[in-house]
Amino acid sequence: TFDPSKLQSFGNAAAGHDGVLSDETGAVVVKPCTAAEIAFYESVAASHSDLIPHLPTYMGQLTLSSKDSAVPEVDSGTITTEDGKVERLHGKKIATELHIVLENITSGFKKPNILDLKLGAQLWDEASKPEKRARLDEVSAQTTSGSLGFRIAGMRTYKGAEVPDVPEDLTKFVEQDKEAGCWVFNKMYGRKFHAQGVSDGFVEYVFPGAKTQPELERAREVLAFFLGEVKDIIEVFEKKESRMYGASILFVYEGDVEEYAKTKQILRSAHPEDEDDDELNLPKLAAVKMIDFAHATWHKGDGPDENALRGMRSTAGILKQLLDKTEKEV
Ligand code: ADP
Ligand code: MN
Repeated sequence: TFDPSKLQSFGNAAAGHDGVLSDETGAVVVKPCTAAEIAFYESVAASHSDLIPHLPTYMGQLTLSSKDSAVPEVDSGTITTEDGKVERLHGKKIATELHIVLENITSGFKKPNILDLKLGAQLWDEASKPEKRARLDEVSAQTTSGSLGFRIAGMRTYKGAEVPDVPEDLTKFVEQDKEAGCWVFNKMYGRKFHAQGVSDGFVEYVFPGAKTQPELERAREVLAFFLGEVKDIIEVFEKKESRMYGASILFVYEGDVEEYAKTKQILRSAHPEDEDDDELNLPKLAAVKMIDFAHATWHKGDGPDENALRGMRSTAGILKQLLDKTEKEV
């Protein structure tokens, strides 16, 4: 349990709506959510235990009115798109007191490098109004959502204490977070890629710095892990009759290359057989989890969710290509 008045704005959201919070220790995130998202996590706990390893640990729900929390209302502002339209940088905080409490996937990392891949060519569910369907269909048609079944929704990479300036061609897509030493890639970044070029976004993610030997080795290990996890996730969802619109695969790895090496040492001397290790708060090298089930439901009798699976398979293909290439460079 924790004190709601001590909740803080969550600094490691890579995409999505404003209003995600975190507790003092950073162990959990508290996110305004739909009743459907709670129902999905409850159903996983009750009857889809094979999904549990691939989702953040579900810790329950919380009713949180703005009076309960000392958290200032954050509004991340707007950006102007290529065609001159002004758009919100993040979705407006959803107007609800219902919150979900989840394991913070970025906890255990010193400098988490985060990639949010939004799955599906169809991004709306049956409850959506025609206007919303049309808007999301247009974004899908113009991005890799349509061609590959996923797009890069957001990204955050550690660049070192001396954050380099953003080059001219990226200024519309990247903000510097000087305090954290990070580049923060906005939602328009992933929208610019065509199918052939989207691997450049993955390269930007796994190689945020120079390709020195330690960085190459880390990339190879992290890519191999990511690919294995995505394959496992595909295998599980091929057996499910789920429908998930706008769900994401969230990738995280240790962005500080020295910390990455240190963590490898620590994990080598820890004993996986020890059940206690779990409670020792061991640092992490990498994590992959499915998130964002605001529009996820079960459709018994309708077969697997090919809309989401297509994006997962495209992702696995790109990870495989990049892994093969990296193995030759190490
Ligand atoms: P929405 O897109 O509907 O606002 P998400 O569930 O996608 O909601 O959350 C928004 C962002 O918050 C994600 O892109 C991710 O970076 C971050 N996030 C969400 N859940 C977690 C979690 N359990 N651990 C760490 N980060 C999370
Ligand atoms: Mn999301």
